[in-house]
Amino acid sequence: MKTENPFLDLLARKARKNRESYWDVEPFVTRLSNINNNIYASLWFKTNGCSHDKRGGCTICDYSNGISISTQDMVDSVALGLTTIPKGCEELLISPSGSMFDSKEVPDSVRQKIFSLLDKSDSRKIAIETRADTITYDKIKETQNILKGRLSKVYIGLETSNLWLLKYCINKNLDLNQMINSYNLLQANNIISASNIFLGIPFLSEKENIQETLSSIKWSFSNGSDIISLFPAHIKKATIGEVLFKLEIYSSPSLWSLIEVLRQLEQEIYENKIEINWYTSMGAYNVISSPYTCSKCYSKVIEILDKFSQSNDFNYILMLDEIKCECKNIWRDKLEKNNSLNLYERVINGYQQLSEYLFNRNWFDFHFDRLINMKIEYDINYTMKP
Ligand SMILES: [Zn+2]
Repeated sequence: MKTENPFLDLLARKARKNRESYWDVEPFVTRLSNINNNIYASLWFKTNGCSHDKRGGCTICDYSNGISISTQDMVDSVALGLTTIPKGCEELLISPSGSMFDSKEVPDSVRQKIFSLLDKSDSRKIAIETRADTITYDKIKETQNILKGRLSKVYIGLETSNLWLLKYCINKNLDLNQMINSYNLLQANNIISASNIFLGIPFLSEKENIQETLSSIKWSFSNGSDIISLFPAHIKKATIGEVLFKLEIYSSPSLWSLIEVLRQLEQEIYENKIEINWYTSMGAYNVISSPYTCSKCYSKVIEILDKFSQSNDFNYILMLDEIKCECKNIWRDKLEKNNSLNLYERVINGYQQLSEYLFNRNWFDFHFDRLINMKIEYDINYTMKP
């Protein structure tokens, strides 16, 4: 099954009109976190943006872009950002807000210069982020030569292992065999593969989202991923997600759903194979709504999630599980509620509403034939677990 969706590309490009560009005002972004008393730093530098974003991009992502960032701007952005990174970090993640190994986003000569700058930093390990289809033996070898073997982890965006959801709900073009090849290639080079997995896919119910996240995590581990980086959805301006949010057919997942996913991963947490990321919007750009509980318990929940994230100690998840709050009852009731429409019907209905919001009803009628096989693919590929 091919995962291109030209229909969603058109809608997404329209939703992105008049987007703001973070890079017009910020020279770089950094984020620091403390895990087991070690500092983990992240540095995002300026580029012209993710290649996939240019076609339309994922329904829920706005990883920013630049209007005309020169190759020198990219290198300068990294050089300046590195001056703010504390000495002696355990790990430094360097990211172009897209794919480090995509030569269209980060030209080869720029990538080499950036890794040469990183070679002078004293961070013990270096991590990068890149799409599966950009990972090659040659790029790994070249990077390790410059960094003297310090590239230790590669984050790869999977979001979900369900191809139907990737195509019709996320609009991400991905070949699962390429994911598996990347896991193998990284393993052969002693580099940790980290799969980014998403919680909060549009059109799915809260319960379906929990099930899908768990099943994608299972898929990743059984196909060779070393660790999972778990991301709950934030709603970002100028995305399909924002329009669905305004139409009141999509919202960020409850933090209780994230906690429920973690509760079911006891063994994997015990084996240090789960990272959680972006469970708050701290440091994020263009966010209009984030995973939440309620005003009574939110600060307590975040305090314990922070402790969990800093220690990987499953006891904090048990503590969270024991919290009693009215919002948790509401969340639980929502999980039990059955949707009157099946997923296929919800997606069609959502596409119609998106089309009317961004264009008009005729636009939907005119373009929908591009999705002629959608129902067949739904029946063949998508079976929801009970
Ligand atoms: Zn609450």
